[in-house]
Amino acid sequence: MLVLIVDDDEVDFLSIKRILLRAFSTDQVEVHWVKDPEAIDLVAQLQRYDICFIDQNIGHLSGIDIIRQVTSRGNITPLILLTGVDDPRIDTKACEYGASDYLIKDQLTAQLLNRVVRFSLAKKDHAKKLTKLAYTDSLTGLANRGKFDQELAFSLATANRTGNYLALLLIDLDNFKVINDRYGRPAGDAVLVELAERLQLAVRKSDIVARLGGDEFAVVFNCYKHSQDISELKDKVLAVFEQPIMFGYQPLYCQASIGVSVVTPGQISESIEEVLREADNALYQIKHKGRNACLFFNPKMKDSLAKAAELERALSCAIANNELYLNYQPKVSVADHSVCGVEVLLRWRTGSGERIGPDVFIPIAERSRCILEIGRWVIEQSCLQLRTWLDQDLSIVPVAINISPLQIEEPGFTEHIINTLAQYNIAPELLELEITETALMENISQVTDALAQLSDIGCRWSIDDFGTGYSSLSRLNDLPIDKIKIDRSFVENIETSDSCKKICNIIISLANTLDLTVVVEGIEAESQILLLPLSKRDELQGFHFSRPLSAQDLITYLGSRKKIPRASG
Ligand code: C2E
Ligand code: MG
Ligand code: MG
Repeated sequence: MLVLIVDDDEVDFLSIKRILLRAFSTDQVEVHWVKDPEAIDLVAQLQRYDICFIDQNIGHLSGIDIIRQVTSRGNITPLILLTGVDDPRIDTKACEYGASDYLIKDQLTAQLLNRVVRFSLAKKDHAKKLTKLAYTDSLTGLANRGKFDQELAFSLATANRTGNYLALLLIDLDNFKVINDRYGRPAGDAVLVELAERLQLAVRKSDIVARLGGDEFAVVFNCYKHSQDISELKDKVLAVFEQPIMFGYQPLYCQASIGVSVVTPGQISESIEEVLREADNALYQIKHKGRNACLFFNPKMKDSLAKAAELERALSCAIANNELYLNYQPKVSVADHSVCGVEVLLRWRTGSGERIGPDVFIPIAERSRCILEIGRWVIEQSCLQLRTWLDQDLSIVPVAINISPLQIEEPGFTEHIINTLAQYNIAPELLELEITETALMENISQVTDALAQLSDIGCRWSIDDFGTGYSSLSRLNDLPIDKIKIDRSFVENIETSDSCKKICNIIISLANTLDLTVVVEGIEAESQILLLPLSKRDELQGFHFSRPLSAQDLITYLGSRKKIPRASG
């Protein structure tokens, strides 16, 4: 045990040392002396010691003030105050300022010192365990968010002082929910534990790995001399997700999106919030671009993020300001090219007259969750429009609405649809719901329930953008799905790319096997249709037949076509 005595009086120091050596055997204890605490960095020194005795009167300094100072600077070594007199005021203050105990010099005995030291050390041990618990993620043993915030602040200060590079990586698992839903929580836990271990092995001891919550991790690369080092380390972190994780005999594949913020030596005192925001922004962008990849923040992102924030604000009052409206794009049947349905496509004309496409504003609406309100509005407006057409006794076809995964997750989603159909007296068979392949595979339990409930009453389901996500064939077979929409990126290149043509063929034969209707979207030319081995019940959609139209233009379009099927609802 290493003991420090802070006392300006050598006689007192020797006397305490003697009693200590009697209290413990000489090979158990080593005693050091500091005469002038102002001459050293006491907080730094204290880290080496197991316990420290501080005299109350050290020249013009008071022991209590010293204790207060070192405690406020993060000292955790037990401090015992020594005084010449028994004064209850000193006793209270010593305790308040962080001393572990308070002893009167001329009452010291070996027995008393032995007890006080043992109790103080036990208390410190307990405090250490509590601190560890408070700062550790219990599942993975990694630092938790509280600890991570502290460490990041410390790393940032060090990087600023030493002029080194620092990089913060925010890691978000792409398909963790699928693993949890499909294989159960123990599998999810196993994935988190394994990834935590791999991440720790991929970085240096001086770097920080933390679990920020759920399926989010963070890594801080500390003190690198060259930006190249960071790029190499980033590759090491990406490699962590390449190999499957074995859960029993089941290999689990878990991919990640990573947003990185780099603090360069010239960047003076960036705040923690700024570094976190930058990495978060990069993560957000990469999540929307394609996932399973890493993106470094760059200042240009700030502009696009500022624009997104402005759109987010404007979007929140777009419904109230009547800026949203719907277009309808016809779908035609392969058999005779008669119109067999329309897809509802949302449009936004802002107050200033700017038209913004759904590819831009839907992700923003999803991030701010105002897609929930907008989604409800789309359902209600579509049903209202359908009712108007039915009342006018117009030949009408099923209407397909795009549904965001967030809508399905929201409690009351199916009830809202059922109630809206009832309110406008619309047969459920006239409503088709489009959900993307990724959403179908990600939110397993909610999607399964919603699909089952709505298909039971007669609504149809189609999988949008098929071929861009990762589908489980057994799940496709198990769910009450009616149609698959081949993503338009494949059709776009079907005439020039052999692999796109092959993918289309595979999807069509898969749909045939599973007895599903195929909808091919993005048809811009007759020649594209000729390359597709479709059956009569399949459907076509694209500019070749019609662009998305207003409700009024759709009526004119329908009137201009020869074969118009009548709806039954
Ligand atoms: P989507 O559901 O795959 O819709 C088809 C998109 O392809 C539409 O783009 C449509 O205008 C476009 N398109 C159709 N035929 C052709 C063609 O021949 N060539 C080309 N180049 N494009 C064609 P749009 O209207 O910009 O919508 C984009 C996406 O926004 C939609 O993709 C859908 O995912 C989303 N979206 C649109 N409306 C809604 C909505 O009400 N709710 C939700 N959650 N998402 C919506
Ligand atoms: Mg769609
Ligand atoms: Mg699509």
